[in-house]
Amino acid sequence: VIQMQQICTRFGEKIVHDSVDLQVRRGDIFAIVGGSGSGKSTLLREMILLHKPDSGSVKILGTDLADISEPMTKDLRQRCGVLFQKGGLFGTLTVSENIGLPLREHTDLDDVLIDQVALWKLAQTGLQPESASLYPAELSGGMLKRAAMARALALDPELLFLDEPTAGLDPTSADGIDTLILQLHSVYRPTIVMITHDLDLLWQVTHQVAVLGDGKVLAVGSMMELSQLENPEIRAYFDGARG
Ligand code: ATP
Ligand code: MG
Repeated sequence: VIQMQQICTRFGEKIVHDSVDLQVRRGDIFAIVGGSGSGKSTLLREMILLHKPDSGSVKILGTDLADISEPMTKDLRQRCGVLFQKGGLFGTLTVSENIGLPLREHTDLDDVLIDQVALWKLAQTGLQPESASLYPAELSGGMLKRAAMARALALDPELLFLDEPTAGLDPTSADGIDTLILQLHSVYRPTIVMITHDLDLLWQVTHQVAVLGDGKVLAVGSMMELSQLENPEIRAYFDGARG
């Protein structure tokens, strides 16, 4: 469902992507790993139309982003759910209002129904109904990730993008998120693209993992395949990676 070819991206002098190729199969849980600053978040932003690479082609859900019009952008956004690295919830809105935002933008549901969908999404992500009226600042780290996940799921996306879904969580909360991702995937079967440094998460849930380094994809494969590679850069990455 995602094809990226020869992606080149630079910010000023800094070359972030130097001809990156990547294919994500429908239904897979696909992870992007790599050191800090290796361009993972930028690559994800390029998949969801938040940043345009300097060159190369990006196709998602059968659409080439090079020849995209405004209505197509809206349609694609509607089919993609995103959990941003920093959560991305609006601090001035309650949890329920945050989850309602994509529903307000992309559906004709009235306020009562939107609130009901928000409650349902909270339940799906394992949050109590009481959290609906809280503000993001009142949530713990684990609850915040779940609330951000609930918003990402608001429109039942075909494609779910998760930027570091367990970063900054204690091991128990992180484990809860691993289980949640597996449950969501087994029920709705979205294609999931996620960025993570969390080895537990990588081993437990991913089908394919791409390792980024030096602006390139160093390797792609299952964790089992990657763990057998001799490439010292990849070994160093996995030996050094933590939750
Ligand atoms: P991390 O693991 O720390 O989240 P990352 O792999 O997600 O890192 P990116 O956020 O994609 O890395 O950033 C890659 C590089 O591009 C970094 O050097 C960053 O400073 C730079 N960069 C990213 N976005 C911008 C921007 N909008 N303007 C200028 N430089 C940027
Ligand atoms: Mg990042």
